[in-house]
Amino acid sequence: MTDFKSLGLAEPLLKALAAEGYETPTPIQLQAIPLVKDGRDIIGIAQTGTGKTAAFALPILHRMLEDPRPTPKRSCRVLVLSPTRELASQICESFRAYGRFLNLSSRVVFGGVSMNNQIRDLVHGVDVLVATPGRLLDLIRNRAFRLDDLETFVLDEADQMLDMGFIHDIRRLVALLPKERQTLFFSATMANEIGKLADTLLKDPAKVAVTPVATTAERISQSVIFVDGPRKQALLHKLLEDASIERALVFARTKHGANKIAGRLMDAGHPAAAIHGNKSQAQREKALADFKAGRSRLLIATDIAARGIDVDGVTHVINFDLPNVPESYVHRIGRTARAGAEGIAISFCAGDERAYLRDIERTTRMKVPVIESPLGAGEGLVTSDRDDRPARPQQHRRPQGNGGGRNHGRPAGQGQGGQRRDERAARPGEPRRDERTPSRGPGDGRKDARPARQDRNGDRRMEDRWVRPTGAPQGERGSGLGSRRPAPRRDGR
Ligand code: AMP
Repeated sequence: MTDFKSLGLAEPLLKALAAEGYETPTPIQLQAIPLVKDGRDIIGIAQTGTGKTAAFALPILHRMLEDPRPTPKRSCRVLVLSPTRELASQICESFRAYGRFLNLSSRVVFGGVSMNNQIRDLVHGVDVLVATPGRLLDLIRNRAFRLDDLETFVLDEADQMLDMGFIHDIRRLVALLPKERQTLFFSATMANEIGKLADTLLKDPAKVAVTPVATTAERISQSVIFVDGPRKQALLHKLLEDASIERALVFARTKHGANKIAGRLMDAGHPAAAIHGNKSQAQREKALADFKAGRSRLLIATDIAARGIDVDGVTHVINFDLPNVPESYVHRIGRTARAGAEGIAISFCAGDERAYLRDIERTTRMKVPVIESPLGAGEGLVTSDRDDRPARPQQHRRPQGNGGGRNHGRPAGQGQGGQRRDERAARPGEPRRDERTPSRGPGDGRKDARPARQDRNGDRRMEDRWVRPTGAPQGERGSGLGSRRPAPRRDGR
């Protein structure tokens, strides 16, 4: 089997990959790394979750290491354009992680935050800049940045860029790039318009393609357990008796709820930590580090706090509370089944969350299979408001009988399209999550946390990102969630 070493990557990169725990390149990495290392332009058909960031970041870093040059003032050697701030931040983090043993600088810039700090940060230039298009154009217009020293240009999620109306910004930026450059173009689909854009940017590109993420997400086995709200904690403790739950991300709807769950787990002897907006940065970092290192098997998170959590080896996502934003469900469950692993998502549904479940099922266009509560008949089940769908017997083990393992609660074969996407905290001046639109949910007095589709500055929220429902064919993004969404405005400043 090909490993990273045989792809010819430099020693400091191999060391960083070992530190990340990556052993085997993913298919897109196997295909793209040698080509990019050789300086070829590529057109990559791949979605998030396939390992595409490392597929371009590793060979780019390798080339920079082989060809050391001074960092150009108010400019960069590598530019990665990304449609959203969250993705931009993640890409920048990946460059930092893979380049940790290299002496290279990286920065991320996006709209919605002060430009002055960004101008100051970029004065001395940067080796790798990850940016959203609108803010980068503004920096250039302010003469705070130029692109004439650029060596490599990456356009990530080109289809999303087009969907979001960034085409003109991209063309403006491309016009400022040196003609002599390497260009890497990634898109989940290759519709006509995207092909045309690629033709204008790339020179003799090599094409690399991998199976869409819908297939990746099909590896997530989903199930729902109907349970009375007060019995949820007992249900969680019961599930945790199964050792196949090696590392679980537990989602609560509120900060208070997350604290309560974590406290009760600790009282019962389950090492757990909560991560949410009321925790200090140091507390959040410690909770995450403990979870990543396996010191705590459980991390209890709210949706917002979970943004940017990128932990490999999450065997289970447990929705202690169902999210009232259906897209959050897809983002949450996408935290498991990363980079080829299998994953299990179990949701608890109380009587007053039934409308949320229906919303999720409408959005994902699939029924989440019901499994029986392991608490036993009558104990944990909602008696007054039972689901009319037949419950499958609870399955603690893989139905096809491969000897168990990470399979708690896995119902028989079902799949779910989805992508890992993070959410973003409310920004200053924006209503806090709990101050937004009133409930459209089951009338339990909770506020609906569905945020505005787009912020003032035009950077779309993660919730707005397209998620392909199961079975939606490639290239038919309009048939997915996107078709029900208001037309997005363009990324602004
Ligand atoms: P991406 O598609 O770039 O968003 O990557 C998806 C996830 O896969 C990220 O959490 C990466 O850290 C992880 N990943 C990427 N490449 C590998 C690899 N070769 N082995 C294990 N995990 C990987």
